[in-house]
Amino acid sequence: MDLTHRPRRLREDRVRELVSETSLEPADLIAPVFVDATTGERQPIESMPGHERVPIEDSVARVEEVLETGVEAVMLFGIPESKDATGTRAWAEDGVVQEATRRITAETDAYVITDVCLCEYTEHGHCGTLEPGIRETETGSREDPSLTVDNDATLESLRKTAVSHAAAGADMVAPSSMTDGMVGAIRDELDGEGFDDVPIMSYAAKYESAFYGPFRDAADGAPAFGDRRHYQMDPANAREAMREVRLDVEQGADVLLVKPALPYLDIVADVRREFEQPVAAYNVSGEYAMLHAAAEKGWLDLEETARESLLSIKRAGADLILTYFAEDIAEQLR
Ligand SMILES: [Zn+2]
Repeated sequence: MDLTHRPRRLREDRVRELVSETSLEPADLIAPVFVDATTGERQPIESMPGHERVPIEDSVARVEEVLETGVEAVMLFGIPESKDATGTRAWAEDGVVQEATRRITAETDAYVITDVCLCEYTEHGHCGTLEPGIRETETGSREDPSLTVDNDATLESLRKTAVSHAAAGADMVAPSSMTDGMVGAIRDELDGEGFDDVPIMSYAAKYESAFYGPFRDAADGAPAFGDRRHYQMDPANAREAMREVRLDVEQGADVLLVKPALPYLDIVADVRREFEQPVAAYNVSGEYAMLHAAAEKGWLDLEETARESLLSIKRAGADLILTYFAEDIAEQLR
């Protein structure tokens, strides 16, 4: 038997950690937090077991729970008390994210990243101002194939929103609307207002994905009509992702995010190879919900599959991971 090469030699318990290529740390994880201005008490999110929408009054307590697990960063999403056609509550000084950010940064050491988008703030649920001439019908079910967001008008709203978050104390802003030119516009506005030290984590390659379903329960951001395929990416495209990411890099993005994560690990790996900036991946609500659903049926082990999922995202090249598993995995790792 001539077997010179036996990879099994390095799989013995005492050596496998020494040769392990990838590790997962609580410091790699970002926990999404939903702050809801419409509620006075915590509301469980049915399709995302273990997650809640919390009132502004509870935002500090919620973030303290995250910090106790060893996770040091949170991503804030807001559900405003009211919505309108252009999403004006997104940049209100007394808006839900602004208020929560002020409290969290005053009372905790958490690194606060804020979602910069308009879909939670517009009554139609799209990620920006709609093009002139497009109106909602009474049934809200207008199927107009040309329906889309007015790109350049939306840039103005994103500028104001990002600056209002920075003014409230946000450590980093994360534009997620896939508006062309959003990173450059936000960088310009932040710098003009004296926030040149606030980094931008751009949702550089965000796909129009069916895996976002449960998030829409959580953030109340489902479009009332149409879909987001005019501004989010076609799941069929990989080269286009490199183009999207390159544009954001040229506009000054500090961190490059790919969303979703597991069905797009090839994109995570491509971005890692092609660019020097840190790469983030968003392990989205559907990726979380499907493991929970299978575990509930006894078909999968939740802890093991969650951990393996996050490890694979890191192995593909992500430096940081936004995940609903953040707290559970961080506790396991301790
Ligand atoms: Zn959006």
